[in-house]
Amino acid sequence: MYDYVIVGAGSAGSVIAARLSEDPDVTVCLIEAGPADAAENIHVPAAFGKLFRTRYDWDYDTHEEPFLGRRRIYLPRGRVLGGTSSTNTMVYVRGNRIDFDEWGQPGWSYGELMPYFLRSEDNERGASEYHAVGGPLAVSEGRANNPMAEAFVEAAVQAGYRRNEDFNGAEQDGFGFFQLTQRDGRRCSTATAFLAPALERGNLVVETNLQVHRVLVENGRAVGVTGSRLDETVTIRAAREVILSAGAYNSPQLLQLSGIGPAQLLTALGVPVVLDQPMVGQNLQDHALIPLVYKHSQPISMISAGGPEDVEQFLNEGRGPLTANGPQSGGFIRTRDGIPAPDAEFLAAPVMFADSGLGTPTDHAISYGPSMLAPRSRGSVMLALDDPTAKPKIMHNYFADESDLDDAVEATRAGMRIARQAALKPYTDGQHQQPASESDADLRDFIRHYAHSIFHAAGTCAMGSVVDAELRVLGVESLRVADASVMPTLVRGNPNAAVIAIAEKAADLIRGVAAPSTAAAGSASHHQA
Ligand SMILES: Cc1cc2nc3c(=O)[nH]c(=O)nc-3n(C[C@H](O)[C@H](O)[C@H](O)COP(=O)(O)OP(=O)(O)OC[C@H]3O[C@@H](n4cnc5c(N)ncnc54)[C@H](O)[C@@H]3O)c2cc1C
Repeated sequence: MYDYVIVGAGSAGSVIAARLSEDPDVTVCLIEAGPADAAENIHVPAAFGKLFRTRYDWDYDTHEEPFLGRRRIYLPRGRVLGGTSSTNTMVYVRGNRIDFDEWGQPGWSYGELMPYFLRSEDNERGASEYHAVGGPLAVSEGRANNPMAEAFVEAAVQAGYRRNEDFNGAEQDGFGFFQLTQRDGRRCSTATAFLAPALERGNLVVETNLQVHRVLVENGRAVGVTGSRLDETVTIRAAREVILSAGAYNSPQLLQLSGIGPAQLLTALGVPVVLDQPMVGQNLQDHALIPLVYKHSQPISMISAGGPEDVEQFLNEGRGPLTANGPQSGGFIRTRDGIPAPDAEFLAAPVMFADSGLGTPTDHAISYGPSMLAPRSRGSVMLALDDPTAKPKIMHNYFADESDLDDAVEATRAGMRIARQAALKPYTDGQHQQPASESDADLRDFIRHYAHSIFHAAGTCAMGSVVDAELRVLGVESLRVADASVMPTLVRGNPNAAVIAIAEKAADLIRGVAAPSTAAAGSASHHQA
């Protein structure tokens, strides 16, 4: 019996466990289906792709996507301490101010979340209006310095876009370098940043290799969880609360397995209904990426990384190609005039990133694509079977809304225009996969044929429909969800930073303390266009 039981030691769960266990008078149990994060490939940034479809990955795929030529799209998810923050590409982008403001949830505006972004942060650039130092999460400049990263930014400037030194500053629009969740060139996951320093506390227990199957609900109140480690059934009880931080696919799956979900589906599968809640698993959102991959003969892409010199430089200085995170530079654009915020993000990686990252690079290349930031299409996560170890049925419905395709066509055109600029000339000898022409029809075909996920799932237990603004599951006592699933709409950017801020705030909501003051974290006002 613990005061708090948290399911999932990912981006959110690791933060919540660390924050709650700061109080020595409460006991916390953090449960993780995957193992400890000891593997070197987790900590060496350039090796992130080597984690795909391994024991550190839930290894999901969508069902046949109706608007992408019935292709199944690969959806990696970290299954390890740190969750997807242990397997992601480390880009630190908070999203746009209007994302949070438009949620319309009391306490969740951009201004109100800012103290939580700052509380986490230890930014290499120092404290400023928008940044803080001294928090657990290292936010650093990239240390790989691949010439293609700068060439991409230069080409965007040649194409007419502005430079942006800080996507988390006054404005999101423009092109520049990403800051990364790295310390000294190594990955800084939430397990490294938050959990590791908390592990010596006597009031925090971390259970690894334990997959939760169900939340136990008695008389309308969550009282614990049950799951399995190999063949052993394990039940852990919670005196105060159960918190689900299992991610945008697994949190709704766990609610449904616990009888909280669409009654019709649960009944059909033989799961006893605790609460008919049709929105659990609905409202699934993601950013689709349209891959533009240009081949060339300069021997400088990430496929050359890993030689003895690189290893030495990585080990001795924490610099060089092995610190490469994938997208080192990029930018934000608006595909149309008059929209209130950027709707496409370019992520530029100095490597051939093909077939959702599953394809083996065959040539030196630069890969970049617009990731479509404000999709209107919605998907769902639904139990396929009542077996808790079976994969859920995931359908993203990418481009179900035709206007999403219109935006993607414009963004792809913008990307092809960048490729034609002088600065990218040395790196664009030929295109790996290309549209037949730049006509609307050919670009639409190209997108349907090659678009894939950029792995930003969110929205399946949204605030306002499944949980309230304090993240409490509506209709069940002592049960919260805190992870990417609670976002009513997905942020315009890479979601890890926003998930960490959600978790920071969740910890304060759970322990009933007021938000830290923004001024205390070194910031008075935050204007972002
Ligand atoms: C390849 C890749 C690259 C990405 N790159 C970036 C990037 O550069 N920048 C960025 O901001 N975002 C990036 N993202 C997305 C970002 O990492 C995620 O949005 C974020 O980590 C989600 O956090 P979460 O807490 O919601 O879920 P997760 O971090 O996935 O945590 C969920 C945890 O719960 C555990 N769990 C699930 N079910 C159970 C169960 N039944 N029992 C016990 N434990 C369970 C999981 O194993 C996992 O540890 C990327 C994602 C991927 C896959």
